[in-house]
Amino acid sequence: MPNVAALMERSLPRHILDALRSASAVASQEPGIVSELYLVGGMVRDLVRGEGSADIDLSVVGDGPGYAAALASHLGGQVTKVSEFGTATVETGSLSIDVATARTETYEHPGALPEVTPAGITEDLARRDFTVNAMAIDLSNGGWGELIDPHGGMADLMMKRLRSLHPASFADDPTRALRAVRYEARLAFTLQPATVNDMQRDCVHFDAVSPARVLAELRRILDETARTRALSRAEELGILGSISPAFRIAGRSLKAIEETPDREPLFHVALIGARLTQAEAASLIERIDPPADWREALGAGSTYREIASILERSDLRPSEIAELLEGFPVLALEAQLQLAPATRQKAALRSWLDELRFREPLLSGNDLLEAGVPQGPLIGQLLDELRRARLDRAVGTRDDELTLVKRRLRVLL
Ligand code: ATP
Repeated sequence: MPNVAALMERSLPRHILDALRSASAVASQEPGIVSELYLVGGMVRDLVRGEGSADIDLSVVGDGPGYAAALASHLGGQVTKVSEFGTATVETGSLSIDVATARTETYEHPGALPEVTPAGITEDLARRDFTVNAMAIDLSNGGWGELIDPHGGMADLMMKRLRSLHPASFADDPTRALRAVRYEARLAFTLQPATVNDMQRDCVHFDAVSPARVLAELRRILDETARTRALSRAEELGILGSISPAFRIAGRSLKAIEETPDREPLFHVALIGARLTQAEAASLIERIDPPADWREALGAGSTYREIASILERSDLRPSEIAELLEGFPVLALEAQLQLAPATRQKAALRSWLDELRFREPLLSGNDLLEAGVPQGPLIGQLLDELRRARLDRAVGTRDDELTLVKRRLRVLL
């Protein structure tokens, strides 16, 4: 077994190394609750790759939550998020440390949530998704820095290969297919042909996966810098279609996602929604059960396309543009702006987003009451008329607005 203690010393930021040393000290003080302690997950992979990584994942042979409590008290932090699977998170001011009880997982049927049994590190690594994520570094006093790599993760890292641990991996947990395209894109690794075969064969089991788990992995893809590549691979490999037959991402949407690397995830959701039909959006929403802002962003595209051709007209007044666009979420319109060809439609979108939506009358409801408008729905109606007049530049000053109100009152009262 190679020992990577020197590499840890050289590569890990000081505060992380200090936290790992504290973790090791706490483990040796608590032999009753922890017999072995390992660093696992992305930090091991990224350390060997020579990259930084923010997350500390610890695997404890013994009582994970009990150890987390001892670690939190040693570091002056707090235990948050204790789960039924024997995991807990320790938060200090500057660090978040995930602690898990080493365990095996067995799946009653494809896609089911696993049955979890405490186990040793070998079993714990064997339940993981890809070989490069299935390495551990011993943090115990006696074994500090020993690399445990039973699945050839190091060799795969060197060769930039992404490989699952066994043929049934995606049947056990189809969300690993989304993880696969995410890692492939982020690490610029190549998914191995056998892994792709297993994945494509077993993606049918997405049917058994809960909306929340699918949504969580989609969010993680959208959080990646390499999101476009991951999404286009997910489309190409048929993963999106396995999640829901209605789930497709138009080429133009992908391109727009690529063109806007610094926009927030919801904007990219709106770009995906921008090209879906109403039926597609509805069935995708039903499948992943997202929160309200995602629903709006996914659903707005088809409604927008119903009015898009009207925006091409040359005789549209600003108030008519406002009437067409004001019900839409701003983000959905920004997505359409990103996608629109350079035509009148694009100019209308831009003027609404940049300027028209902020144009309000100078008079308030109180001003109208003072001007003699009776309390009631007439106030709203006249404010609306004033807003339209202002949009079309039919009024300029406050006096113009008062004159308009008085003229209308003569007709309306
Ligand atoms: P990164 O995204 O950089 O890998 P991370 O290490 O925080 O960050 P997590 O999603 O927190 O990644 O997972 C931690 C480890 O848990 C992974 O490296 C992997 O070994 C394992 N893991 C997570 N999800 C699964 C899964 N669905 N199936 C099998 N193993 C998983």
